[in-house]
Amino acid sequence: MPAQGGQLPEHTQVADVVVIGGGVIGLSIGWRAAQRGMRVVVLERGRAGGGTSHHAAGMLAPVAEVVPAEEPLLDLGLRSARLYPSFAAEVAGAAGVDGIGYTRCGTLLVARDADEAEALERELALRLRLGLEVQRLLPSEARRREPGLAPALRLALEVPDDHAIDPRALTAALAAALRSAGGELREHCEASELTLAGGAVDGVALADGSSLRAGRVVIAAGAWSEQIGGVPERARVPVRPVKGQIMRLHDPAGSGLLRRVIRMGPSYITPRGDGRYVIGATSEERGFDRTVTAGAAFELLRDASELVPGVLELVLDELSAGLRPGTPDNLPAIGPSAVPGLHWAAGHRRGGILLAPATAEMVLAALAGDGPPAHAKPFAPERFARLDSAGPGGSGSASGIEGARA
Ligand SMILES: Cc1cc2nc3c(=O)[nH]c(=O)nc-3n(C[C@H](O)[C@H](O)[C@H](O)COP(=O)(O)OP(=O)(O)OC[C@H]3O[C@@H](n4cnc5c(N)ncnc54)[C@H](O)[C@@H]3O)c2cc1C
Repeated sequence: MPAQGGQLPEHTQVADVVVIGGGVIGLSIGWRAAQRGMRVVVLERGRAGGGTSHHAAGMLAPVAEVVPAEEPLLDLGLRSARLYPSFAAEVAGAAGVDGIGYTRCGTLLVARDADEAEALERELALRLRLGLEVQRLLPSEARRREPGLAPALRLALEVPDDHAIDPRALTAALAAALRSAGGELREHCEASELTLAGGAVDGVALADGSSLRAGRVVIAAGAWSEQIGGVPERARVPVRPVKGQIMRLHDPAGSGLLRRVIRMGPSYITPRGDGRYVIGATSEERGFDRTVTAGAAFELLRDASELVPGVLELVLDELSAGLRPGTPDNLPAIGPSAVPGLHWAAGHRRGGILLAPATAEMVLAALAGDGPPAHAKPFAPERFARLDSAGPGGSGSASGIEGARA
């Protein structure tokens, strides 16, 4: 749909769709929109993929992360996980790269002592009640499958369909795929505010003083989404940052330490399949603070090494902190808002890498005018229309290692 309007200032460009934010979510939407023949511009104020997506572990874990009362999120996660094999292959093909670190590795949930084993039995019962694929393993069998696990193991659950991807390889490939489909990716270009005409979206004003005209704008600016100016109160979505510290390591000896993702309560070790490992993650309510702390490094290594002693032999490459975009009800906001032309794709909190294919599918349906699919309802941005967006909201803990509810 071409932008409407009369005489445009010379510096004003016209697009069909402007996406604000070049993280995994904005890039996936931009790429799919370009594939559909839309003139799309993705605005990224830093480097594409350099926001929270840069820090993510890359677990695609709808079953391991299921939480009671968040069943719509489970359904969306399962849907997205099913899309992943073809999504990953298509992105890699479009980007002209061999692969983007999509490994069908499976996941083990493990317990070290009697209390943890009891908690894991409850986790098993929940998954069985929901009809999810999960298998109870005795410690000897778990250690046969993953010899790197500590002898102290009490119980394990095998979740065969929860896999992983390398988020950095994914966002780099998405950026290339977007461009090769004819989309424009503008890095180091900050959107300052939405512009409206007659109550509908008209485009975006940029921090450099120029502007873009577009009849449809998607806010996909992660934890910073609420900072975009010009959004009328009735269309706002409260998004707050939830800090996560995470560690990257590698094994000079190669890839033998672990094959599966190992999760113990809130902690996890994610193998990349090539000798690289990611150990995560804290969950902290500290606003936009992104400092990394010795305490977090200590806790992450302590928990991981109690489970897999071999991690202490790994080479430490990086400790970093990312900001998960959280909403008050922990569900993302995906779809059209109360303002015609304004769409949201934000608030994916701990699951944005997993949810990217399904989010792009839902947003594209709305951009193409197909109307929201039935499964989109729980994520409708309009559910926040009556909330006061000034408050921090949310139900996360003050700090600690990332929990199943984080
Ligand atoms: C420690 C940690 C571990 C995680 N592990 C996992 C995991 O294993 N699996 C999983 O599925 N998810 C995981 N997540 C969550 C996942 O990283 C996020 O849900 C996801 O990255 C959100 O993607 P996004 O595109 O919305 O945000 P981002 O990746 O942050 O992208 C938003 C982009 O918008 C840009 N931007 C902001 N404001 C503007 C503006 N005004 N103009 C232009 N650009 C702007 C930013 O620079 C940024 O690049 C993890 C997160 C953390 C912190």
